[in-house]
Amino acid sequence: MQQNLTNIIWFRQDLRLKDNPALNKAAEGPIIAVYIWDKEDPWLPGGAAKWWLYHSLKSLRGSLQTQGIQLILRRGKPLQILQELVRETNASGLYWNRCYEPYVIARDKKIKAFFKGQEVSCESFKGSVLLEPWGLMNQSGKPYQVFTPYWKALQKEVIAHPIEPLDLEGRKGDVQSDLLDDWELVPQIWGQDFPKLWTPGEKGAWDRLESFLKDDVNTYEKARDFPAEDTTSHLSPHLHWGEISPQQIWHTSLKLAGPDAMPFLREIAWREFSTYLLYHFSELPSNPLNKKFKDFPWLEDPQGLQAWQKGLTGYPLIDAGMRQLWQTGWMHNRVRMVVASFLIKDLLVPWQEGEAWFWDTLVDADLANNAASWQWVAGCGADAAPYFRVFNPVLQSEKFDPKGDYIRTWVPELKDLPAPHIHAPWKASQAVLDQARIKLDSDYPRPIVDHQMARDRALDIYKSLSS
Ligand code: FAD
Repeated sequence: MQQNLTNIIWFRQDLRLKDNPALNKAAEGPIIAVYIWDKEDPWLPGGAAKWWLYHSLKSLRGSLQTQGIQLILRRGKPLQILQELVRETNASGLYWNRCYEPYVIARDKKIKAFFKGQEVSCESFKGSVLLEPWGLMNQSGKPYQVFTPYWKALQKEVIAHPIEPLDLEGRKGDVQSDLLDDWELVPQIWGQDFPKLWTPGEKGAWDRLESFLKDDVNTYEKARDFPAEDTTSHLSPHLHWGEISPQQIWHTSLKLAGPDAMPFLREIAWREFSTYLLYHFSELPSNPLNKKFKDFPWLEDPQGLQAWQKGLTGYPLIDAGMRQLWQTGWMHNRVRMVVASFLIKDLLVPWQEGEAWFWDTLVDADLANNAASWQWVAGCGADAAPYFRVFNPVLQSEKFDPKGDYIRTWVPELKDLPAPHIHAPWKASQAVLDQARIKLDSDYPRPIVDHQMARDRALDIYKSLSS
C-alpha cells in the first residue's frame, strides 16, 4: 500500500535539505531523490561549475543518506528518465523547484503536460528566487528594465520566511543509479586549488554566510570594491546551486545585521533582477537586448582574446583578475567589470566570447547573472552601463588596488614593483624596473593595445550607434 505514496523529488539548482519547498511536499510520503544530467541542455555546466556540482552532489548524497534516502543519478532525457522512475518505483508524486532558464522552462512545461494525463501529481515550487519573475511589473504593466525602480518595488514586497525542514523517510529498496565518478565531472589538469578555497554543499554555504555576517557585513558597502580586501561573501556558487536560498540569506542577514545588511541585500537583488531579465527576455544569453548592437563592428582578434584569457595583456589589474579566475574559479566583482570592459571596448571582441570563457571557468557560472552582466558592461542590455563608460585599467587599478596588493597576489612577477609603478610597469623608469628585477617583454608583457587609442576607437563606434 505504502509504495503507492512514494514521491519523487527532482533536485536541480536546489541542492539543499532546508527551506526546500519541493522536498517538503515530497516528504508527505516515502521519498525517491534524483538528480539528472540533461545531455540536451544547451547550457550544460562549464568546467569549473562541473567541479562544484560533483562536490555538491556528494555533500547532498551524504545528507540524504543520514536520513535513509538514496540519491539516484541518471543521465539522459529528463522526461524519459522520470517516466522510467515513476514506473520502477510506482511513484504517485513528482516535485521540483523551478528554474528560469529558457530551455529549462520549455522542457519542464512538456514534462508537466505529460504527467497531467497520468495518475501522478506533478507540481513545481518557488525555491531559488525571492519573488517569482512574473510577480513584479512596472506601472505600465511591463517588465522593469532598470534596476533602481525594480529594487524599490522589491523592497515593498513581503519576502516569505524560510520553511522548516520536515522529517524525511526514504522509500525502501534500491533503485538503479549511475556512479557519480562515472560522470567525470572533475577536471584532470586544472582546479587543483579549488578544494583549498571552496566547500561546496549546504554546510559550506551556511559557514560562508555566518562568517560573512560576523566579520564583513558591516564594512561591506565601503570595502566591496577593493579586491585586495576580499570581504565580499563568496556566496555566488552556493547560491547558483541552491545550497542556500535567497530567503534564508535575506532573513538571516536582517536578523543578525539589521539595516546594515541592506547594501549586501541590494546585491542579492541584482541576482534576482538578472533572473527576472532572463525570464522576460529569453535571448539574453546570446543576443543584445538593444537591437542597435546587432551589426556592431566587432574585431576578429584571437591573439587578443588569448592574451586576455591567460592574463597576459600587459595591464596588471586585468591580468591579476584573469589569473585569479583561472586559479580559483572566481573573480572579484569590480575586476570582472574592468576585464569585461577591456575585452569588449579596448579589444572590440564580442561580449559573447567573454561570456563563454566565464561560463567555463567560473565556479559561480550562472546563465542569468553572467549574461546580464556581460550585456550590462557592453552597454547593450537592460539598465546598461552608459556607452561612454570605458574603464581605464590603470586608473581603476590606482583607485581600487592603490597599494597593488591584489596585483602582487596574482601577478607575482611584479611583486617587487612598488606602487604607483605596479599599475603601469611600461611607464616605469629603467632604474625602477631594474630594482624590481623586471624585464619588460620577457618577464612581463607590454600592453597589447594602447588604452587611449582603443578608448577613442570604441567611443566613435558607440557614438555612431547611438546617433
Ligand atoms: P557579494 O558581493 O557577496 O554579493 C552577494 C550575492 O549577490 C552574490 O553571491 C551574487 O549572487 C549576487 N550578486 C552580486 N553582484 C551581482 C551582480 N552584479 N549581478 C548579479 N548578481 C550579483 N555572478 C554570478 O553569480 N555568476 C556569474 O556567472 C557572473 N558573471 C558575471 C560576469 C560579469 C562580466 C560581471 C561584471 C559580473 C558577473 N557576476 C556573476 C556578478 C558578480 O560579479 C558576482 O555575483 C560576485 O562577484 C560574486 O561574489 P560574492 O558572492 O562575493 O558577491
